[in-house]
This record gives sequence, structure tokens and C-alpha cells, in this order.
Amino acid sequence: MLEIYLEGHDNYYGIADVMRAFYLRPTEDKDCLRVYCSDAPDMVFCSAVGEDSSSCTSKDGTVSIILPFVTDPVSISREVKRSCYTALSEFLGRKAPWGCLTGIRPTLVAGETGDPQELSEKYFVRQDKAELALKTYANEQKVLSKIPGEDINIYVGIPFCPSRCEYCSFVSSDISHHMDRLGKYLDALEEEIKTVGPVIGRKISTLYLGGGTPTVFNDTDFDRLLDIIYDNLKMDPETEVTVEAGRPDTITEHKLRSMAEHGVRRICINPQTMNSETLARLNRLHSSEDTVRVFEMARKAGFDVINMDLIAGLKYETASDFIDSVNRLIDLHPENITVHTLYKKRRAAISVSDVLTDDNNEVDDAVRKGYGLLDKAGYIPYYMYRQKDTGHGLENTGFALPGTECLYNVAMMTDARDVLSFGAGGMSKRVFGSEGNKYRVERCPCIKDVIGYMNSSREMAERKMRFFGII
Ligand code: SF4
Repeated sequence: MLEIYLEGHDNYYGIADVMRAFYLRPTEDKDCLRVYCSDAPDMVFCSAVGEDSSSCTSKDGTVSIILPFVTDPVSISREVKRSCYTALSEFLGRKAPWGCLTGIRPTLVAGETGDPQELSEKYFVRQDKAELALKTYANEQKVLSKIPGEDINIYVGIPFCPSRCEYCSFVSSDISHHMDRLGKYLDALEEEIKTVGPVIGRKISTLYLGGGTPTVFNDTDFDRLLDIIYDNLKMDPETEVTVEAGRPDTITEHKLRSMAEHGVRRICINPQTMNSETLARLNRLHSSEDTVRVFEMARKAGFDVINMDLIAGLKYETASDFIDSVNRLIDLHPENITVHTLYKKRRAAISVSDVLTDDNNEVDDAVRKGYGLLDKAGYIPYYMYRQKDTGHGLENTGFALPGTECLYNVAMMTDARDVLSFGAGGMSKRVFGSEGNKYRVERCPCIKDVIGYMNSSREMAERKMRFFGII
């Protein structure tokens, strides 16, 4: 058992985040963080700050966590993280790729410092990650400049999938339990979009139809979904419309044709891995051959951009499986490739131990190699985020061939543009000015529960209209 006691400060979450960077998951006790750690049986740390403690001592005299004497909360928070990181890193003999930088948007800090050296010195970020963050930040800012602040960006969420992937953490339901609800969900969505759509009064820069899996509907209902969107939201030829077709097992010729005819120019076909055996074990109902077949169908349908997602660190895979998947996607030549690292949230069926260890840095090395291959093939990183429970301390990065970046992804991930969300579980955001590259954002959640949403779509519509000052 490793225990850290807090004295003279209450930066519980900061320390918990640093522990997670070392794949440790502390218990929820706010005076003391406890975690089982085979490297540290019976180890006690004390993280202290105060008048007479420009340094601190561990309770059993074994390890010290040194904190300089600082008083303002931001500095204390940073110093607590730095000192805990240093102590744990020395003690465990490991380093974390992002050092003590634990926020979800490393590009924000990269933009503030503007210098990979400073990121490494101040936050112990590894050189390759510091350079990646800086490069991504520069590309992200270029994309952001193409999205006018006065425009609105729209998200439409479909929280159903043909089956639930083993690692899934989203608010998404296996369609087999909800066949009778799909039509009712469309009714609710129609009411919400019909109520808000005509009175938005702002140009729509981007629209993202995501999930779940929006293509989970049968051909007729899918047409109805697109009609609801296109009939009630005023889009012009420049509006960037993306459909997350997601699961190849849901994509038909009819749906591809229907999207193209409605004006959709970008779609996502997400293999996650090109290893069919892994796909079966993950409870995804398609093979890698299906992915290739559907990709070719989509190419024939003439979409401008196809994005494909991959996941590094999948339970049943080795590093070479991941590299093989990267190479096979590069051979297909989609315009965008997004690399996720497996992460674990409460709802996922996989266990924490399936995600949190990377003792031999196998996943880390595989991701590094994968990024190298993408770079060589001409893809640039243009948005990035991290999740608290990402295993291996890594990140998710969107890559694109230059000029094909998804504006919506940047609008959403930077928190720098207004987003109006329709559908259960969507989060609307309103941005009020900025300080440097940090925006002040207010959020308006939509009810997550599908049945609750179906019973309150009118109320949800009014909530959003109030939030955006329409009524
Ligand atoms: S396709 Fe995505 S949202 Fe659907 S079950 Fe799989 S991981 Fe979850």
C-alpha cells in the first residue's frame, strides 16, 4: 500500500492525477490517497506546504516530497504536482510521457509556453511529446482561424450502436435492447431540432452527426434522420457536415448515397483495429475485410474526406498488431486518421487492469512508431486531448493530410467556439471572451437517459434556447 498524506494544502485532485500518470488509481479519501502498488508496499509519503516547511518529511522518514514555500493557489497546485511527480518518479524508477502535465488539453499549455524546452523543464514533459504538443497547437490554431466566432457549430447525437464494444465508455445502448425506441428517439430529436433550428439566427459553420453510431438506423429511418437535420437547420454549401458512420457493419450503399445526396462531404469509418480476431473479441460485429469493402464503397460515393479511427493498447493486441493496423490504414489513404489510446471509464466492461499498465512501454513505443509512420505518409497532427483514465499516460491525436482537417473537432476540443447539441447526452457550450488562449466557457447539458430525453425533448429545446439567449 502506498499512501500520501496532505498537510497544509488540499490539492487532492492534483496528486491523484499525478498518481494516475504512473498508472496508479488512488482511493477516494480526501485526507489521504491510498493505492495498492507492488513497487511500494507500506510506503508513506507526506505532501506538505506551510510556514516552516519549505521542505517536508515523509512520515516514516523514507521519502521526502519537497515543496518550495509558495502561497498563491495556482503556484501551490503546480508545485504540489511537480514535487509529487519528482518523488514518485524517483521512487518508482519510471517517467510519465507527459510528466506532471495532467490536464485534458496539453496544447493549451504548449501554446502558453511556446517552447518545448520549457515544457520539459517546467512539467517534465518528454521531448517528443513536447514537440508534438507544439506542432499540434500551431496546426490547431490555423484551423481555428477558419471558424468564425460569431457562427454556431452543431452536434447531433445518436446514442445507439449495433452492439456494445467491450471497451465502450460512452452513453450508448446496444440496439438489440432498444429496437422499439429508435423511431421514438427520432420523434424526440425532430421535435427538438424543429423547435430550435428555425430560430438559431446564426450561420452554421459545422455540423457533426455523432454517437453512438448514427448509421445504426435502417435505410428508411436514416433518410428520415438526414431529412430532419437538413429540413430544419439552415446550412449553406460551406457548412462542414460530418457523419460518424462509425461501425462498418451499419453502412449500406443506400446510406452512403443518401448522405452524398443530402450534401454530407465527410464521413468517419472507424476500424479501431485491422485485426479481425481482436474485433470479434471486442464484440464488434465486423471484420477488417468489411472495413476495406465499406471504405471502397465510400470512395466510390465521392466523399471529400474519410476519417478512420484506431485504438492503441487494445486488450488483446501486441504493438505489432497496432503498427500493422496503422500501415494498413495508410495504404487505404484516408484523408484523416485519428489515433486513440485505450482508456477506461466506469461504464466500460473492461477492467482497470486491462488499461492501466504498460510496464515495458510497449504501447508507448507502438504509438511513437505509429506517429512516425503517419508523419512519413504526410499526415499532420491537428488536435489532441487526453483523458484522465487513459492507460499508459498517453493521448488521443487527430491527424490529417494538410487541408483536410475537421473544423468541428477543433471547435469542440479547444472549447473556443459555441456548440449547440441536440440529442440525449449532448453538451452545449457558449464561449464568453478569452484570456490569452483560455476561453471562458459555460455549459448546458442535455439529459443523458434516453427515455428521459424522449419524454422531455420540448423542455430540452427550451433549455437550449434560454442558454443561447434565443428566448
Ligand atoms: S461504436 Fe463507439 S459508441 Fe458504439 S459501442 Fe462501440 S465504442 Fe461505444
